[in-house]
Order: sequence, then structure tokens, then C-alpha cells
Amino acid sequence: MAESKRILVTGGAGFLGSHLCERLLEQGHDVVCLDNFFTSQKLNIVHLFQHDHFEFIRHDVTQPIWLEVDEIYNLACPASPVHYQYNAIKTIKTSVLGAINVLGMAKRVRAKVLQASTSEVYGDPDVHPQPESYRGNVNPIGVRACYDEGKRCAETLFFDYHRMNGVNIRVVRIFNTYGPRMHPHDGRVVSNFIIQALADEPLTIYGDGSQTRSFCYVDDLVEGMMAMMAGPDRFIGPVNIGNPGEFTIRELAETVIDMTGSRSKLIELPLPADDPTQRRPDITLARKELGWEPKVDLRQGLARTIEYFKSIDISHFRKPTSHTAHKSSGL
Ligand code: NAD
Ligand code: UDP
Repeated sequence: MAESKRILVTGGAGFLGSHLCERLLEQGHDVVCLDNFFTSQKLNIVHLFQHDHFEFIRHDVTQPIWLEVDEIYNLACPASPVHYQYNAIKTIKTSVLGAINVLGMAKRVRAKVLQASTSEVYGDPDVHPQPESYRGNVNPIGVRACYDEGKRCAETLFFDYHRMNGVNIRVVRIFNTYGPRMHPHDGRVVSNFIIQALADEPLTIYGDGSQTRSFCYVDDLVEGMMAMMAGPDRFIGPVNIGNPGEFTIRELAETVIDMTGSRSKLIELPLPADDPTQRRPDITLARKELGWEPKVDLRQGLARTIEYFKSIDISHFRKPTSHTAHKSSGL
């Protein structure tokens, strides 16, 4: 077993964070989970409350907090377009002030700190697939900018704290990830399609469905993040973590219908503003430096995710907000 550490996970009650907390506890670490439940609920972590090595703090990462830990995973930030556009100013504050607060903590207690960055730093990419050296094509004033530019600024802060203060950082750029505990109302494409297919309702394709995404199963993603944290100090990133399998949104819809045996049809709705047309990670660097690559293919991961959505009672989840990314298209 690895040496036991005290590890802070901000956003630890969220979709990715709750899986990460579980894996860290399995490895024998003390886990402090910090979250304000903006886009998650206690349901995701309630089973961890019994664990002797688990501690929960309800806190907003935009406010300073003093904790003594050895490692920090900074995941606190709404991640789906519906949620991050709900209060755009709060989203950018969460990325920027959240980064400043965790970096200040890391500097004070000499903790190693990992930033959950995103493929959104590449914007609507004109280089395909996207290597880490690509600097991106982001609209700085568009409806996605609060998230994209917030995450870009957070990366800048991480590298400046590293250069100026010697903070031991890691930056991972996460590509679309899916799996159990995605919030049923967060409007992301995998959860939307599965929920719609299980209810025999039309699957809502935004645009003509020719835009592509690469979907990574949550277990692979968590393993990649932990490999990055454990990796050598000379390799701080940024590194792409994602599954290079690339699918059109229409292909995803057809696969979900096929796997659920649903009677659903496909309907087309307007494409949200600034929706990237293609996205696929180049994971050469992660393979080389971390020996990491995803193991779960789309059908395997979808099967597990479909089982999850069959098992939950959606009425236990808070309703979606009226501000959706989809509405930003003017519908
Ligand atoms: P999520 O919405 O399920 O989790 C985010 C968590 O952060 C939630 O529990 C939320 O309540 C919490 N949070 C939000 N604002 C906060 C604040 N101000 N203070 C404290 N907690 C706050 O999303 P996720 O998919 O688990 O994403 C986790 C991280 O990974 C995010 O930083 C996201 O940007 C990044 N990421 C995710 C994906 C993906 O496909 N899932 C892709 C790229 C990057
Ligand atoms: N999308 C869709 N139908 C939905 C939800 C999303 O066609 O019900 C599309 C969306 O326009 C985008 C892709 O699926 O092209 C992925 O959307 P998601 O919100 O999951 O994540 P993004 O990669 O855009 O941040």
C-alpha cells in the first residue's frame, strides 16, 4: 500500500470528485472533501460518511480556508454548460479565486496541488486531434468564456505560483468524461441521451449531430489524474487525459438507442452558441510520461452508466435551472 497522506479534494462531492475520494480512501489516505453542493448533492458521498478516514467540509472555494494537507486535487467548478452558464460570473470567480486559494494553501503547507483543467482551453480547435502544445481557439467574450477563460487563467496561476514560489503543481486537461453519478439534470450529452432513451422520449440532438466528442469512462479518468499526481516532479503538465475514440453526437445517440433497446426517435434542436465542432485528445504525452491510457471502451462504459441511471430515482435530484446552455442559442 502507498504511504498514507492527507489529501484535500475540492469539488469532492461532484461526479468526478466522489469517485476520486473513493479511490483515495481505498488506497488508505485521509481524505478531506470540500464542496458547496452547487452542482452536486450529499447523495454522491453519503456512503463515505461512515469511513473513519473521510471528512467533509461544506465551503465555497472562492473563500480562503486554512487546512493542513499533503496533496490537493482542485476540482471545484461547475462543469456542464448548463451549470457553468447559470451564473457566469460565479463560474469565473470559482476558477480564478478557487485557484488562488488552493495555491496559497499549497504554498503555505508545501502541498502538491493538481488542477482539473479541461479540453475547453482549446476552444473550438482548428488543430485535430489536440496536443498539449496547441494554444487553442477560444472566444473570450462568448457564453462559454466564463468556463474556458476561467480555466485558462487558473492554468496561468498554477504555472506562475510554480515559477515564482516553487509550488509543486500538476495540470491535467480533462476531455469529456462520463459514468455513474453524472447529475441527471446537468444536461450533458451522455446523461441526457440515456435518460431520454430509458423513458422512450426523443433524443435531443443539438445541431445536425455531426459535431464530435471523445468520451472517457470515469474510472480511467480518475486513474489518469492519480497517475499524474504520483508522477515525477519534473513532469507537471499540462497533460491531456481522455479517450481518443472519437464519435459524432448522432453516432452516440444511435449507440444509446441500440444499447437500451429504446423506441426513442432523434430530434434536432438548435446548436448552442460556440459549441466546438470537433474534439479528440492526443494522449501521446500521457502514454509516454505516465504509462497511462484508457482501458474502458465506449460500449463498456455506456453499459455501466445505463445500469446506474436505471438504478436511481431521478425525483431525488434537484430540478434543472431555467438557464440552460441550449437556451443561449436563442431558442
Ligand atoms: P460536477 O459539477 O459534478 O462537480 C463539480 C463539484 O464542484 C460539485 O460538487 C460542485 O458542487 C462543486 N463546486 C462548484 N462550485 C464550487 C465552489 N465555488 N466551491 C466549492 N465547491 C464547488 O462536475 P465534474 O464533472 O465532476 O467536474 C469536476 C472538475 O473536472 C471540474 O473542475 C471540471 O471543470 C473538470 N472537468 C470535468 C470534465 C467532465 O467531462 N466531467 C471535463 C473537463 C474538466
Ligand atoms: N448535446 C446534444 N444533445 C444534448 C446535450 C448535448 O446534442 O442533449 C451536444 C452538445 O451540443 C455538444 C455535445 O453534445 O455538441 C457535448 O455536449 P456536453 O454538454 O456533454 O459537453 P461539451 O463537450 O459541449 O462541454
